[in-house]
Amino acid sequence: MATDPVSDEARDRQILDRLGSLRARDLPVRGGRTMAYVYDSGLAGVEELAAAAAERFAGVNGLDMTVFPSVVALENDITARAARLLGGDEHTAATFTSGGTESCLLAVLTAREHARRTRGVTRPELVVADTAHAAFHKAAALFGLSVVVVPVDPLTYRARAEDMAAAISDRTALVVASAPSYAHGVIDPVEEIAAAAARRGVLCHVDACIGGWYLGHLRLGPDAPRLPAFDLSTPGVTSLSVDLHKYAYTPKGASVLLFSDAELRRHGWFAHASWPGYPVVNATLQGSKPAGPLAAAWAVVERIGTDGYTRLSSRVHHAATALAQGIESIKGLRVLGRPDASLIAVAADGPGIDPFVVADEMRDAGWYLQPQPAFGGSPANLHLTVTAAVADERTVRQLLDALAVAVGAARERGPAEVDPALAAAARMLDPDALTPGEVSAALALAGVGDDGELPPRMAPVLAVLQVLPPELTKRLLPELVGRLYRAAGPRQGGPADVS
Ligand SMILES: *Cc1c(COP(=O)(O)O)cnc(C)c1O
Repeated sequence: MATDPVSDEARDRQILDRLGSLRARDLPVRGGRTMAYVYDSGLAGVEELAAAAAERFAGVNGLDMTVFPSVVALENDITARAARLLGGDEHTAATFTSGGTESCLLAVLTAREHARRTRGVTRPELVVADTAHAAFHKAAALFGLSVVVVPVDPLTYRARAEDMAAAISDRTALVVASAPSYAHGVIDPVEEIAAAAARRGVLCHVDACIGGWYLGHLRLGPDAPRLPAFDLSTPGVTSLSVDLHKYAYTPKGASVLLFSDAELRRHGWFAHASWPGYPVVNATLQGSKPAGPLAAAWAVVERIGTDGYTRLSSRVHHAATALAQGIESIKGLRVLGRPDASLIAVAADGPGIDPFVVADEMRDAGWYLQPQPAFGGSPANLHLTVTAAVADERTVRQLLDALAVAVGAARERGPAEVDPALAAAARMLDPDALTPGEVSAALALAGVGDDGELPPRMAPVLAVLQVLPPELTKRLLPELVGRLYRAAGPRQGGPADVS
């Protein structure tokens, strides 16, 4: 049947309008005011270039590198750059992945297989500090490793090398160090941890997902601060992950996993020739694999280049330093630890200030700071990822002024309180035996309705989550999100409903 080009055009416009109006309710991804999840270089034209590059590779399938050699060429370019930046040598091997989580998953999978095949380890363990990214717990859960969690130093939030070393056993497949950690932005003692792992013949992964690109370029600059050794050239480090969709400012779906050599890397690959279809070799978890994010990442990395990233890193470093100092001078706030990178964790200094109330106030003022609930020795705090888009004096000043006002308002409002009787009742619940009614009741206690709709102010919700045992929170979070996602049920606002 012939289609009417005019009505197709009108329809396409409606579809795109609908996408635009959905996006209008999101946090902004540009401008630096969303201080988690998104990374803005602030450079003109970069976003447009990335979109054009992705469009050129839109239909390409990275599943079969033999029929799409363009994918191999782009991956080799990008991973060679990452290897040069982060201590690689002529033996370094790499895999381009869809993001930090996939890079961490593959590092763990590779280590598990390496331990099984070369050391006969059948019940593998993963040694991590309690500040290691959740992706490592996900890897352990998916790939059947047990996690040995080592508490960090309660003042510096850095892993203690001797404690990490003591946790290594004959079953250890991999030891993980962060450079830096997400929550506090501090670099673990990579040199000592990697040496301890090497002494036991165990692999060591450096999670430089968030900081690798930033720190690697920062140290190239003329005014570089002294940084501890953290990259692949550090003796004992056998793999390292670095995300491009963070401080390389590329669109989402881009990370690099470096290995000390190809012999190690092969352990994580999946190959299969015993089925009637095409022979399979997968370097990553995906099968069919979009090449758009790869092309976009390649284009952005080419465009900004080493000098460009070095300048951006230097600007971000100065802004983060000024910001941390400014925060320390706001009465009622303090910075947790001494951040080595561009991430700042801001806690209350003294009673009367609830950081999550500060976050609500900041959100009303147009800034998104990410709440981090209390855990271990780390009190409730707000996470700030400093990117190039906030890295100028005027914006830093605006942010500090807004924070000072928000703290004043938070002091006036007082902390979000949880009824102790309700909290005690919630603590009695067995997470594994909750009935649907109890789940709804527990969520209602946190202010979450049966539609999964969150209240406008999050401090009371977070206050409840914070007093619940982590196992109960772990049970409730999927319930909350499950209320948002429904395949069936009333369909609202799909393209067909555009009016
Ligand atoms: C962001 C991050 C990850 C996970 O990366 P995603 O790209 O979000 O999947 C892992 N480790 C650290 C330290 C991170 O900051």
